[in-house]
Amino acid sequence: MPAASRAMPDSPVAATHERPSWFVIEQVKTHIAATGHPESDSRLHQGPIASDEPFEILAMVSIARDKRPEQDRARCPMCDQGNKFLDGRLVYFPRLGAIAAIGHCCADGANRLVADRVWEAKQKTALEENYLLDTIPTLALQIARLHALLPVAEEAERVFLQFRKDGARYQRRLRHIVKNGGELIVDEVMQSSGGAGPRGLRASGSTIETRAIRFGRMNGGLAVANKFTPASDLKSIVDALKTYPVGADDGAVIDYVAALSSEARATVYANIKAQLQKLDEAPSRLKEFRSFFEVSNLERLTSWGSHRDASFPISTAIHNYGEAKRFFQMMGDGAPVRILISAKLWDAL
Ligand SMILES: [Zn+2]
Repeated sequence: MPAASRAMPDSPVAATHERPSWFVIEQVKTHIAATGHPESDSRLHQGPIASDEPFEILAMVSIARDKRPEQDRARCPMCDQGNKFLDGRLVYFPRLGAIAAIGHCCADGANRLVADRVWEAKQKTALEENYLLDTIPTLALQIARLHALLPVAEEAERVFLQFRKDGARYQRRLRHIVKNGGELIVDEVMQSSGGAGPRGLRASGSTIETRAIRFGRMNGGLAVANKFTPASDLKSIVDALKTYPVGADDGAVIDYVAALSSEARATVYANIKAQLQKLDEAPSRLKEFRSFFEVSNLERLTSWGSHRDASFPISTAIHNYGEAKRFFQMMGDGAPVRILISAKLWDAL
């Protein structure tokens, strides 16, 4: 028997209804929340409804049991049984032209996957639209925030590039430390009398014993990374954000979002979100970079690299230089690195 013909002849819901508007959905939800009684809402199909009748999910339904005088559960019109559910879904049956509140008993059935896909697509649309409507009006401010970071980022990028050009050898060795967790360790050769002690490591075929001396962690791994381009990164964020209606009034933003196809909307949503995430991470990355040049960090590196058993001799320091500069040096068994750094690297972020 075709499912549509199973709608009750005396059903209060006419079989020609369109998909309900947002307004009707809200009214039904309000009724259910207030009364706990979907059975008493004349807009809802009270069943029976064939178990294979296709439906779309409109909203989640949650019934407060204490609203029901009998403290029972609501009747599910789809499985046509009373005392059936408290948590269910408000659904639309396109073939019946009807809406109903059904329980999980039926909402989780064979139709569920299709219904969930429709529901999820609508949730995704709402999520993306709301995000874009909230976020696009803030882009002008985000770009201003980004411009404020630029002087620090430009100096950081310049210093990084000079360090890479003049100190590639040091960077390479220090990068190795970052890869191994950042701990500064020297394997000190113990003054052994030849007996095999319990501690230390016995190198094979010899009597050399060592013990690990720890100097703490090296900060600012980004200063010795393979690549660090904070200023170029910020500029590419500006370029990307400027392709959207920055500074447009609310009406123009609404029109812009409404005109996007669902594919375009997903792309714009993902891109703006990714760009703003990069922007959010920029200050902490700059802070990490400059933490390499902190006096305490360079002193730690020097203690480690000056140990008589250091595998890589290194000595490094930073001093004030004139009014607005600092002078960074790194020396070891290669050509020394000397970089004048503008104090603006340490501007507030
Ligand atoms: Zn049911």
